[in-house]
Amino acid sequence: MSSIATFHDVTTLDEAVALLARAPGGARPLAGGTDLGVQVRRRLVAPTALVSLNGIPELARLAVAGGEVVIGSCVTHRSIERSPLFNGALIALREACETVGAVQTRNVGTIGGNLANASPAADTPPVLMAFRATLDIVGPDGPRSVGIDEFFLDYRKTVLTVGDVIAAVRISDANGAAGSAFVKLGRRRAMEISISCAGAFVRLAEDGTCADVGIGLGSVAATTIRAAEAESVLRGQPATDELLHAASAAAVAQCSPVDDVRAPASYRQQVTDVLVYRALRRAVDRAQSGVEGAAR
Ligand SMILES: Cc1cc2nc3c(=O)[nH]c(=O)nc-3n(C[C@H](O)[C@H](O)[C@H](O)COP(=O)(O)OP(=O)(O)OC[C@H]3O[C@@H](n4cnc5c(N)ncnc54)[C@H](O)[C@@H]3O)c2cc1C
Repeated sequence: MSSIATFHDVTTLDEAVALLARAPGGARPLAGGTDLGVQVRRRLVAPTALVSLNGIPELARLAVAGGEVVIGSCVTHRSIERSPLFNGALIALREACETVGAVQTRNVGTIGGNLANASPAADTPPVLMAFRATLDIVGPDGPRSVGIDEFFLDYRKTVLTVGDVIAAVRISDANGAAGSAFVKLGRRRAMEISISCAGAFVRLAEDGTCADVGIGLGSVAATTIRAAEAESVLRGQPATDELLHAASAAAVAQCSPVDDVRAPASYRQQVTDVLVYRALRRAVDRAQSGVEGAAR
């Protein structure tokens, strides 16, 4: 039987934080419930109270403000898929959201839940790493911003502590010749958690060299990781096929995958080499084709 005794439906972040902080260890934020519902049912977690975030208007916001795309934490995968903000240079986030479960999951599953659940196989975090997103978190001590690089601490562990709620994800609205891509391999094409996945972002300078590069990897370590060494192979260099392969090899060197039911570690490394190359190639091709800005 479930341990949940109380369900709180709140309309402000302050109320949510106060309720969560008052019941340390016992209360959980609830967004779409696609992860939490499964975990409660399997008795992996036993919250005594749930605080629904779904009635807080600011968490459902999806907008461009001050040169940034601001995604409220309760924005669903489906809303991101359908938003024109992710047709241009930021298309990788749409591609990642499109691969999350089935449409029923995507209709309710949120970007905040995908992050807070902290699965190393989650699809949106590698893209948010590639975009170097910033997370706005509100907790009992007030608001703070955390770079996505610092958010994941260890397997299913994040910087979130009791009472903390992710309020929004912020991404720079890419200017100039920029492109991005997300590539995922699972055991089948749909409704599948990845064996490996990669998000890539590239902004080209006028001379065609890579002015900015971001690469995030999923399912190849205890957390989503940023392949910083692979990025530095390309930064300031021309986006030749040879260098894209060199960057992919550098990304593989940063992986520490495990053997599990989906694939052995050695296979994960082999496919990561291919996936990173494909993600980079697609991002560069898109940047070269001149698609600019988030909303174009
Ligand atoms: C059938 C199925 C298929 C799936 N396939 C995929 C897939 O292919 N790829 C993938 O990445 N995921 C997949 N998932 C997992 C899941 O759908 C996503 O992780 C989803 O984004 C979770 O969001 P949610 O709103 O449902 O989170 P919830 O289940 O509501 O919450 C998840 C966790 O995050 C916490 N939380 C939620 N929101 C916040 C917040 N704003 N601040 C702080 N903590 C918060 C909750 O307390 C809970 O611990 C699948 C799930 C199912 C059931």
